[in-house]
Amino acid sequence: MEDIFCRIIKGEIPSQKIYEDDDVLAILDISQTTRGHTLVMPKEHYPNFLATPQDVMHKVLDVAQRIGQAEMAVLGAQGINILTNTGEAAGQSVPHFHVHVIPRYFGKDGGFSLTMKSQDTSGMNLPLLAQTISKEIK
Ligand code: 5GP
Repeated sequence: MEDIFCRIIKGEIPSQKIYEDDDVLAILDISQTTRGHTLVMPKEHYPNFLATPQDVMHKVLDVAQRIGQAEMAVLGAQGINILTNTGEAAGQSVPHFHVHVIPRYFGKDGGFSLTMKSQDTSGMNLPLLAQTISKEIK
């Protein structure tokens, strides 16, 4: 399936490249959530993280780690969020596996916040939930 990242990879749409090898491309996100917000993607098309073969995923994560290290060193970032939205329900808008590398700066994040709000777990059977998921892991 042809998506906007496939077209960027082919060079049909311009981008600010910050890393490229035979398998992986990293570009600045067009909307800079914070300064240095980067997208790391495989050149081969896979629709999302869950559908990506392990060797490809490892290459992408390796580059994401190295970019995070570089951004901590050169941008003065004080933290990094690594995230990959998987599926529309999770906020994925481009159906081509990519990892966001989002540098974080104390007091200078422009209002960006990533928080995880806890649900009320009183109605959940957590041991059963853990067992249900655990049994399905292949
Ligand atoms: P998602 O919502 O799928 O997790 O992330 C997609 C990201 O791609 C968004 O943060 C969006 O700003 C970025 N994006 C969408 N179109 C383009 C584009 O043409 N060029 C670049 N560099 N980023 C894009």
